[in-house]
Amino acid sequence: MTGITSLPGYPVSRPRRLRLLPGLRDLVAEAGLEPRSLMLPVFVSERVAKPVEIESLPGHYYYPPRSQELVKLIQEALDLGVRSFLLFGYPRQKDEEASRAHARDGPVQEAIRSIRRELGYEPVIATDLCICNYHSSGHCGLPGKCRFGDCIDNDSTLELYRRIAVSQAEAGADIIAPSGMMDGQVKAIREALDDNGYWDTAIMAYSAKYASNFYGPFREVLDSAPKWGDRRSYQADPRNARDALVEVALDLQEGADIVMVKPALAYLDIIRLVKERFPYAPLAAYNVSGEYMMVELMARHGYADRRSLMMEVLYAIKRAGADIVITYHALEAARLVKGQ
Ligand SMILES: [Zn+2]
Repeated sequence: MTGITSLPGYPVSRPRRLRLLPGLRDLVAEAGLEPRSLMLPVFVSERVAKPVEIESLPGHYYYPPRSQELVKLIQEALDLGVRSFLLFGYPRQKDEEASRAHARDGPVQEAIRSIRRELGYEPVIATDLCICNYHSSGHCGLPGKCRFGDCIDNDSTLELYRRIAVSQAEAGADIIAPSGMMDGQVKAIREALDDNGYWDTAIMAYSAKYASNFYGPFREVLDSAPKWGDRRSYQADPRNARDALVEVALDLQEGADIVMVKPALAYLDIIRLVKERFPYAPLAAYNVSGEYMMVELMARHGYADRRSLMMEVLYAIKRAGADIVITYHALEAARLVKGQ
């Protein structure tokens, strides 16, 4: 008890006083969690005729793009105060052109139209923009050649991203979220949107997306693991904080409206760093599938109370500085906050 009393302005010698009762703890809690700041990932699939539970993400489902069940899910979330959604598409089949990513009747495009038809503009719809779930290579960019052999070709990929962005905006997306980590992707998409009259469609850039092992369960969801090589030539190196600062700075210069750090839990320092260096940009953090799985498995094996652990994780991400948390626990956290 000695050191702290000598700090100027910090005379409190018994921090436990404010921890003794739930009301006192709530009164002085720094991090809060409001359902409005949670974004729910949603998977729409051309391969199912009714909702089918996703094996690697228990509690989550593939929804047919045009289905009442999808609309019901969105409505249920809205009722809980969760207003924003991140749509991922799973095509009937992948091909060399990633054609279902920009087809007028692609899974994401159809899902947006059907949600808009029933619920108008109350839900905020963001769309993941990438090709790993649509292209036969499983990579986020088009295969090409570098001076040393096979690699992902940056600039031809941007052309494809432009088409996908315009197609998603045309279907009615509020926010386009490019996740492929190609250089210049935000600029390319911003230009394409503006050129086609979609100046009012926002961009949420997966700016600091790290080459992480925490994406494991998700790759199974969309069968999006690369067929050869890995993603380390375009995603950020987990050893580096500077990659995040450079990518965020570039994305903001190129016109990103919201920036993102992904994953969240092993990158809380990055969230804090980005928030401090770029305080004027809304910051999203993606609480990814592997983080979800850790919570679920610990709870299943009796090592933690599921809801308590879930909230600890979400509070940590908010405390680090995230404004928006993209999480598979969005609905359950909202239920808890609402006392359900
Ligand atoms: Zn991708």
